[in-house]
Amino acid sequence: MNFINGTFQDASTGQFISVNNPCNGDVVGQCARSNAEDVNLALQSARSAFLQWKKEPLAKRIALQHRAAELMRQHAEELGKTLALELGRPFVACKHEITRSAELLDFYAEEALRVKGELPLHNIEGEKAMVVREPVGVVVAITPFNYPITLLVFKLGAALVMGCTVVAKPSEETPLSTLRLAELFIEAGYPPGVFNVINGYGHEIGDALVQHPLTSKVAFTGGTNTGRHIASLAAAQFKRITLELGGQSPAILCADTDLDVAIPALVKHAFANSGQFCYRVNRVYVHHSLYPDFLEKLKSKVEKLEVGADPFRNPDMGPLINEKIFRNSENQVADAVAKGARLLTGGQRLGTDVYAQGWFFPPTVLADTTHDMKIMSEETFGPVLGVMPFDQNAEAIQWANASDYGLAAYVFSAQLGTGLRLAEQLEAGSVWVNNIHRSNQDAPFGGMKASGMGREKGHQGLEAYTELKTIYLSY
Ligand code: NAD
Repeated sequence: MNFINGTFQDASTGQFISVNNPCNGDVVGQCARSNAEDVNLALQSARSAFLQWKKEPLAKRIALQHRAAELMRQHAEELGKTLALELGRPFVACKHEITRSAELLDFYAEEALRVKGELPLHNIEGEKAMVVREPVGVVVAITPFNYPITLLVFKLGAALVMGCTVVAKPSEETPLSTLRLAELFIEAGYPPGVFNVINGYGHEIGDALVQHPLTSKVAFTGGTNTGRHIASLAAAQFKRITLELGGQSPAILCADTDLDVAIPALVKHAFANSGQFCYRVNRVYVHHSLYPDFLEKLKSKVEKLEVGADPFRNPDMGPLINEKIFRNSENQVADAVAKGARLLTGGQRLGTDVYAQGWFFPPTVLADTTHDMKIMSEETFGPVLGVMPFDQNAEAIQWANASDYGLAAYVFSAQLGTGLRLAEQLEAGSVWVNNIHRSNQDAPFGGMKASGMGREKGHQGLEAYTELKTIYLSY
């Protein structure tokens, strides 16, 4: 199904894509396999809704957004179950994704009150200039499989409250939660056509979505190569873009690191969602004085993680979404071991008993890695962590920045000054010092270098859905 102009519709192709539970391959639903004709329908719907929506008072848009957030909270159990089935991630984490996303809707609604224009003080008799902000127009929001609702709400919550309308294109792996969300927005009172969902394969409908004359902005989260392709198409037509792309995030543990704080934080942020998140810790540089102790404690903590095939029993980790993502981890481990890395734990597919029908990879740690290994330079998007010792902080910074990516980085040092100095030198859109907590709703999130363009969340995330206009007045 697609969700266009407030109703569920089949694709004009009459074709479907089946949605499978990655834990066991069971079919849990289906979505439309759309083509360019369906893309046109969705964009026409969003455009005609835009002409009215942009005129609605901000207070009305804010009230609707709070109502949608409340409905998400009321349906967190149900939406969380849908997510767990299509994604295989532990249910509590899926439910949390829904409530956190509702929180972001609320934040954007509140922050919208603080988006303002300007009146420059020229003090010229009979002249004024008004700088106003207007909604950018119809937004195409293309999202990946790993956090289907979070990553959509990053875009949707900002776009809608700023007066844009949206055509969402979820991942073909995880479209069901997005479809249900669109239905809930209608229940909240949004006019039909303000939030549409089109389904299909990215390589089949992606170009049509980006190049359609009614598309004003593309907000994309996904792989760097897909982002590069989208950016090149968008640039040819000067369409606005926000890109949240891949990551290969480093952590630096200075000699005075408190390992009792650092290790749990690193384990959580290397292996949550089976390593399928963009700003996961991919590689760790550890001061040589801590190295043996660090490896021993890390191994012991990692080996306690439970991999499970039933998300409703809330294991620590579930399966990887598909074979392609799984092979990444497998290949990077083989590459590292062939080049001399030491496999500390994990490394082999879990493929028997309850694991037989899914792509399960255990939490894996590679020690003594070097920078000619893929695990230290390519995105893994799986539960494999590379660890390497260093002597001088300057050397660690050099290694950490020796990457095409720049999404996130992590520093640990008992000296806050050292931590801050290193944070300033790291080439990353977000840097955490001395612990790793959630990324806040009111702070901008996004990447430097090949990790993306623009920022989501925070005040900046709202402004990204507006155009500036200067109106000159003579009187
Ligand atoms: P992907 O790039 O394969 O797909 C993402 C979305 O793009 C899907 O909806 C897909 O159908 C669509 N798509 C594919 N080809 C397209 C095309 N030619 N034109 C338009 N759309 C197209 O990514 P994925 O495998 O679903 O997700 C994993 C990637 O997402 C990782 O690289 C990860 O780092 C990245 N990611 C980044 C962030 C961030 O905030 N920076 C967050 C989550 C995930």
